[in-house]
Amino acid sequence: MIKKRLYLGLLGVTLLMFSGALVYLWLTFFQRDAGILRYLLIAMVLAVLMVLFVIGLGFLGIVLSLLSSRNITVLDRPMNFTVSVLYPVVIWLGKIFKIAQDKIQCSFVEVNNQLVRAKKGKLTPDRLLVLLPHCLQERDCPNRITTNPDNCSRCGRCPVGDLLVLGEQYGVHVRIATGGTLAREVVKKLRPRAIVAVACERDLTSGILDCIPLPVLGVTNERPMGPCFNTQVNPEAVEKAIQFFIKGGDSHVIFTT
Ligand code: SF4
Repeated sequence: MIKKRLYLGLLGVTLLMFSGALVYLWLTFFQRDAGILRYLLIAMVLAVLMVLFVIGLGFLGIVLSLLSSRNITVLDRPMNFTVSVLYPVVIWLGKIFKIAQDKIQCSFVEVNNQLVRAKKGKLTPDRLLVLLPHCLQERDCPNRITTNPDNCSRCGRCPVGDLLVLGEQYGVHVRIATGGTLAREVVKKLRPRAIVAVACERDLTSGILDCIPLPVLGVTNERPMGPCFNTQVNPEAVEKAIQFFIKGGDSHVIFTT
């Protein structure tokens, strides 16, 4: 929960900051008799109030979902809006408070994963995509697995082979992407209804934000040799994420896209 609190705390501070700015604007300018400016200000304040209301609902939905482990379906849209609109502000606030960006991203992925798990849906395997980063591939391997994963001979020198076998066992799509552009192309082509994504916190965060409202369960890779080089991943964590989507929990909620 500590990890999740960081992102939630920054999100809450952002909301307070915007509300404070609105009150300041109101108290400073609204009292003045400035003719047409007064009406412009009223329109502006009302517009900002509406946005803040939606963001507030989204924040409430996120907190309630996390506390109850249940999806608040009616608040899905405000939650997605709050997450995507406020993320850059949260990162900016983190810089002001001197909080490392990767810590915030790690917290964001944790919050996202719990929100996705709260949805408790069930998919047929062919609607699930497992996206792997290219850095999992052994650096000296000559096989071009990004164009076609079947080019992997499953030699066991890196985790890719085992993950492809896992994908076959469950009948889900497994693709390897070199970056965001290729990942977006794969998503556009396969049109999955949910994604299990393996990557570093930074790439997971941008991928999750890119895919909203598609549910994405993020599995963080391990980087024993530094970033983007012969990375590793716990296959059990990937398998659990696959099982969550295709075996489901309470099947009364179906994932929506
Ligand atoms: S498992 Fe596949 S991708 Fe990894 S080194 Fe062997 S052939 Fe290359």
